[in-house]
Amino acid sequence: MPRAARGRALSDLKNHTFFMKASSLKNLTASLSATRKNFQPLWVYFVRNRWALVAGVLSLLVVDFLLLMIPLIIKNAINLLVVQAPGTGALLVKQGITIGIIALFIALFRYVWRHLLLGHSRKVEQGLRNRLYSHVQTLSPSFFQNTKTGDLMARAINDINAVRMACGMGLVALVDGLVLGTSAIGFMISIDWRLALISLIPAPVVVVFTRMLANQMSARFERVQKTFSDLTEQAREGFAGIRVIKAHEREEWAYHRMEARGERYVGESMHLARTLALFFPLMSLITNAGLAVVILLGGRYAILGTITPGGFVAFISYLNLLTWPVMAMGWVISLIQRGSASMRRINGVFDAVPEIQDPGKENGRAPESHLEKSSPGKTSGAIRFSELSFQYPSRTEFVLKDVNFKIRPGETIAIAGRVGSGKTTLLQTIPRLLNVPGETVFVDGRDILKLPLATLRKQIGFVSQDVFIFSDTVFNNVAFGKGDVTPEDVIHALDVAGIGEEVDALDNGLDTLLGERGITLSGGQRQRLTIARAVVGDFPILILDDALSMVDTRTEEGILNRILDLRRTRTNVIVSHRVSTIRRADRIFVLDHGSLKEEGTHESLIHLGGIYAALYEEQLLGEEFEEGEVNSS
Ligand code: ADP
Repeated sequence: MPRAARGRALSDLKNHTFFMKASSLKNLTASLSATRKNFQPLWVYFVRNRWALVAGVLSLLVVDFLLLMIPLIIKNAINLLVVQAPGTGALLVKQGITIGIIALFIALFRYVWRHLLLGHSRKVEQGLRNRLYSHVQTLSPSFFQNTKTGDLMARAINDINAVRMACGMGLVALVDGLVLGTSAIGFMISIDWRLALISLIPAPVVVVFTRMLANQMSARFERVQKTFSDLTEQAREGFAGIRVIKAHEREEWAYHRMEARGERYVGESMHLARTLALFFPLMSLITNAGLAVVILLGGRYAILGTITPGGFVAFISYLNLLTWPVMAMGWVISLIQRGSASMRRINGVFDAVPEIQDPGKENGRAPESHLEKSSPGKTSGAIRFSELSFQYPSRTEFVLKDVNFKIRPGETIAIAGRVGSGKTTLLQTIPRLLNVPGETVFVDGRDILKLPLATLRKQIGFVSQDVFIFSDTVFNNVAFGKGDVTPEDVIHALDVAGIGEEVDALDNGLDTLLGERGITLSGGQRQRLTIARAVVGDFPILILDDALSMVDTRTEEGILNRILDLRRTRTNVIVSHRVSTIRRADRIFVLDHGSLKEEGTHESLIHLGGIYAALYEEQLLGEEFEEGEVNSS
């Protein structure tokens, strides 16, 4: 190669190395700043627990200091034994007692630091979990449509655990790694620096190995966790769907599904066990290799008199003491990395902004001045839709188109239309469960976007198609956190909802447990219980979205009669697939492909002979057909 070219190549190489160094330094700085940013939300817990943290770290330092003292005492004791001067026995007793006292203090301070530092990590865990839960509760229904429940559960359990480990054991390992590690090395150097240098040769290997294995273990652990949650989910589904499985005689199929999940879980657990099984033997192999070198060389120094026999033993003690801090340094990096990745995922949830917010609120509390003053007592229950058009973000076409109409206070209205015509969507705009544009929906003459969400929703009882019963008593399911509800109120509401007698017949009446931990209700019973919940609320506006689809026509009629009797001065908005229910409304609004097409009483709409009349005809035919079937069977 010509000289010039060689020179250029050399300078290229130098530049390359320089840039590599610069870029890896840049990477390191970037990753450190990302880690700091990820952990930022935890700062508040560290400040809040600062005194416990200071006391905990001080106790940890005391333990480290005491641990470092023990080899010095051993050194003195052995040197005394070697010399065998008069009075050695008494001196040895003194040394023994000192070690005993030190051990006692180590135990005491170890208890204190564990209590304070691990307690701090539990407080971080609890604070983070509460914050996550309350934030998730503020998010809009669309968030839950786009996020899997399992994902949220994983964040609430596994990720928060990883953060707790980083804040607790991560901190301990960092302090021990730095303080105990450097001090032990310092003492070793003070005994014999050459021996210290040689014995430290395996240390970087231990750090690197610990990091590698810790990373591998955490990846494997995550896989074990994942297969475990699959297994749990499979078992839950198997038990919940046991009736369907039995009815179709699919026990074998269900068993094989479970067996396959179980096998995957055991497989992943065995992987983890193999890594764990490798970890400790490998560590002790490396540290014992260091020990062998020290005994060989240090023994020679002792024979030659370069170090005292006591110094030699103390040196070995320090080397033993060093095993944990060296491993801790490898572990701490992995703990912080895992914690940082978990915090990034948790921050992802914190960063999700509720699509539907109180007016004037941007990522925080709404300034009071932006909110209209709440006056729930004065609510009349008037509702107005003005040029309301609505589109779901996931769809291209409009689901509601220029809907215009008014509901007067104290009126009972029904919304009719074919499946998919937009009835549920229209109902959901009233309590702002959907993100509607401003100046399109008004309650009591006020734009709902200008009302505080709590004020708006407190006025509306919404019974949707999918009922939800909590694992709690009948009473708590009906009272639903409302403080001033008496058992009499609940019994009355249950009677109105037509389920009073059935609850009466239960062994524990209102105190009967429902759901997972208690009795299972039928679909119709669940619907009626949810109606009772809305009746107890005594809301100025009641919305029933096909809320009685699972009870027979006669029962539905009875329930509606009682509800409408009770709520004669209140506003009621009803959607039902039964014309027999709809016809009872003061006025009926008919939707078709999101547009309001007809409006009037049952009679006037039948007379009109449009969509409503056609729906009515179809239903009559259906009923006749069903009756015919019943009669002929
Ligand atoms: P109805 O209550 O009259 O049966 P809906 O209001 O439930 O009608 O639905 C109207 C249209 O909006 C349907 O085409 C339905 O598929 C669609 N839709 C309903 N909910 C959503 C949603 N969350 N995301 C996207 N499209 C939806």
